[in-house]
Amino acid sequence: MDLWNLEPVTLAPELETLRGAVRAFLASENGRWEPRCDQWIGGWDASFSRRLGKRGWIGMAFPAQYGGSAAGALARFVVTEELLAAGAPVAAHWIADRQSGPGLLRFGTEEQKNAYLPGIARGEHFFAVGLSEPDTGSDLASVRTRATRVDGGWRISGTKVWTSGAHLAHTLVVLARTAPRTDARHAGLGQFLVDLPCAGVTIRPIRLLTGEHHFNEVVLDDAFVPDARVLGEPGSGWHQVTSELAMERSGPERILSTFPVLAEAAARYTGFGAVVARMWALRQMSLAVAGRLEAGAAPAVEAAAVKDLGTRFEGAVLDAVRQVVEPDPGSDDPLPRMLAEAVLHSPGFTLRGGTNEILRGVVAKELGVR
Ligand SMILES: Cc1cc2nc3c(=O)[nH]c(=O)nc-3n(C[C@H](O)[C@H](O)[C@H](O)COP(=O)(O)OP(=O)(O)OC[C@H]3O[C@@H](n4cnc5c(N)ncnc54)[C@H](O)[C@@H]3O)c2cc1C
Repeated sequence: MDLWNLEPVTLAPELETLRGAVRAFLASENGRWEPRCDQWIGGWDASFSRRLGKRGWIGMAFPAQYGGSAAGALARFVVTEELLAAGAPVAAHWIADRQSGPGLLRFGTEEQKNAYLPGIARGEHFFAVGLSEPDTGSDLASVRTRATRVDGGWRISGTKVWTSGAHLAHTLVVLARTAPRTDARHAGLGQFLVDLPCAGVTIRPIRLLTGEHHFNEVVLDDAFVPDARVLGEPGSGWHQVTSELAMERSGPERILSTFPVLAEAAARYTGFGAVVARMWALRQMSLAVAGRLEAGAAPAVEAAAVKDLGTRFEGAVLDAVRQVVEPDPGSDDPLPRMLAEAVLHSPGFTLRGGTNEILRGVVAKELGVR
């Protein structure tokens, strides 16, 4: 088996032309938003998402019949890395574009694809993902939220936590137990498309250290989901969710969350050569993961390793910049201001999308040493 394949990727000239177009668009946006770190988590700006959608830069993995551009994983990589590097406000459409849309493409019914994918590609329909629970983050198979079969659909009850953007999203994808837990821990799970607002669903903020309202506690109390909004097969939720997590873990946002602060610091001070070299090596590895996705492979080991290395690097960038800049949230200068916000976001870097310990477990298992 081909367990470790990070063949270097050379981008075709038309992808560099695409990069130029994204840079020109970002330059034309001058002044409409402030570049910040971690904008794929914190920068919710529906109008920016719509402007991107108009250019065909959301849903690049979707076929044209569902409103996408079918441009492929490498083209999407180029667009997303430019948006992240610029610190653009991409959070509103991020989850829909990265994982919910591809999940619908893979497991959704024709009706669901037609209902959701064009709106995602236009940058108008946003998604949130309800996996984690108060006692369940890393050990996802132990979710307690339960879905009970009723006439015409399912009733769902349980509590989700850390649900990014649920207060603003149009649809929440809920992982729930559809059958009692047995020794086959991964059996009996299902995914449900909960269109918001929904009777029986209460969404409350959990504030970040910065005070920002990014994620939530979501309580589902007998919320009704019709059969037409079951995603895939009840019982196959584990297989579906692990395929979704591969999309969630494999992108350049796992190395570039703090790039805007690095770019600004390196423009003003010397001494960042080692950090920039490390970033470039990780970027080439992340690009290689995109190359494998483009080739139709499922590079679980490579993506997990790059995410582990990448998210630790995101924190290392802040340590390096703090050697020369004092974080100051109230500064008029964008560099200390950006740095202060990034430092307060940094505890989440190695947690979100699966902690580094869990990722190392994935690598060990695939390599057969666990
Ligand atoms: C910014 C941010 C956004 C998020 N957004 C979402 C979202 O939109 N939707 C969603 O569902 N969740 C979201 N999460 C939750 C995230 O996925 C979980 O925090 C993460 O999976 C860890 O789960 P936990 O917090 O329950 O920690 P726990 O699972 O309790 O882990 C605590 C510690 O124990 C370690 N640990 C646990 N099990 C093992 C093991 N088997 N071996 C070794 N070490 C282990 C972990 O690595 C960690 O260090 C978000 C989190 C953050 C920080």
